[in-house]
Amino acid sequence: MTAAIRVLSLASEAVPLVKTGGLADVAGALPAAVAPHGIAMTTLIPGYPAVIAALGIEAAGGRRRGRSGGGPRLLHQWDDLLGEGARLHAASLGAHPLLVLDAPGFFARDGGPYADPQGRDWADNWHRFAALGRAGADLAGGAVPGLGFDVLHAHDWQAAMAPAYLRFAPPAGAPHVPTVMTIHNIAFQGWFARENFARLGLPRAAWAFDGVEYHGGVGMLKAGLQAASLITTVSPTYAEEIRRPEFGMGLEGLIVSRGARLRGIVNGIDTAAWNPATDPALVAPYTARSLARRAANKRALEADFALEPGDGPLFVVVSRLTTQKGMDVLCEGLDHLVGLGGRLALLGAGDAAIEGELRKGAARHPRRVGLHFGYDEALAHRMQAGGDAILVPSRFEPCGLTQLYGLAYGCVPVVARTGGLADTVIDANLAALSAGVATGIQFDHVDYPHLAQAITRAIALYHQPGAWRSLQRAGMRADFSWRRSGAAYAALYRELKAEQA
Ligand code: ADP
Repeated sequence: MTAAIRVLSLASEAVPLVKTGGLADVAGALPAAVAPHGIAMTTLIPGYPAVIAALGIEAAGGRRRGRSGGGPRLLHQWDDLLGEGARLHAASLGAHPLLVLDAPGFFARDGGPYADPQGRDWADNWHRFAALGRAGADLAGGAVPGLGFDVLHAHDWQAAMAPAYLRFAPPAGAPHVPTVMTIHNIAFQGWFARENFARLGLPRAAWAFDGVEYHGGVGMLKAGLQAASLITTVSPTYAEEIRRPEFGMGLEGLIVSRGARLRGIVNGIDTAAWNPATDPALVAPYTARSLARRAANKRALEADFALEPGDGPLFVVVSRLTTQKGMDVLCEGLDHLVGLGGRLALLGAGDAAIEGELRKGAARHPRRVGLHFGYDEALAHRMQAGGDAILVPSRFEPCGLTQLYGLAYGCVPVVARTGGLADTVIDANLAALSAGVATGIQFDHVDYPHLAQAITRAIALYHQPGAWRSLQRAGMRADFSWRRSGAAYAALYRELKAEQA
């Protein structure tokens, strides 16, 4: 039996401790997903107040170094981590090791991980997340005796300085540690003004076109992408798309130049939390063999959204209300959807202008368009169980989770053909329908004509019950658990380890 490969995974959020988006789901699920493949993953996250409180970590002063028992343990201290004192605590994330970077000067404040209570980004985000990267690089470099790592895996710009530090300013005597940089959404790049460079503790050589410098400032994601041994993103199609200006958001040239080192691995879903047979949020749990029971969930959802019952399909949307998600185009498509006998229930939060347009649409179609603004996890589950089809008209979508939940719940995805949506839904064209493998509907171009045509196709299929049931069942058979993706990440780490040998 070969020794496990030790991976340090570095992320700014991880479920169940702190979440603002899909990154947290991935960081939280990865240790368990790769463990069966001989990977021992340790996760490092910042010690935000909620994390410190949830884990019962003591404030500095009440020191419990090496404390026995199951609680957090103080493992290491930095007197000067980019200008602040910091402590490292060992705890656990489910059954897996967790390290918490407790640096009150950076992380002990009210608000979210990235923004103050008013939603404004913290002005020192460059400093806070450079410190996370520096800490990760130190640990990978052997800062804690007895705690070694074979690979460092950094997620998004918040962790991206770790590979850059290992490249330009490795700890003295550190072994070479290969790195993986994962892009969860290339739209978020961590760009900061050039005067911050001097305080990053990097040599002048790092201020270079193939280093940290980006458009005259500090580009954190850019620096990580340049330095990483391997780059991944969260679907094969997105990995292709970000080579082009429409999707690369300025980094397309870099992505092309490093293309040989870029891979796409689709995210998995948590099949324990998202299983219609056991989901406690549902009025009527069901399986692929008892799809008729979905009707009770549909009636309950209609009641929730004050919609009139009808023979036509009930479309649902669970989304951030942004143009990335195509929510502006959805507003344009409402009249068409209702005109063909469809109804819509939408759960979302975000852009106030889009919210206003949706309200106008709902006012035009009382009892046929229902809206719920806010974030509601249980309602999101009930919508997948009670909806007939879930609309995901994203302009770009690195992976996307809502279409995967739709597949698992027999809520047929109607999606734009982009990123992870293209990779996970099989369009109901004639070939796929006759082979019984279609799972949804895809459309090109996120604009009114294409969305309207997709809605027309969905409604026509809905009125052919045999074909619709076949779509639902094929989707529910599809396996988008972490099983395959866990194996893919493990293979990646193994590849890097082999390159070292
Ligand atoms: P993104 O991470 O870009 O927002 P994903 O589809 O990858 O898009 O993930 C979105 C996740 O957030 C899904 O788990 C979805 O169910 C959930 N979600 C989005 N909006 C809401 C909401 N208003 N209420 C509850 N859950 C939501």
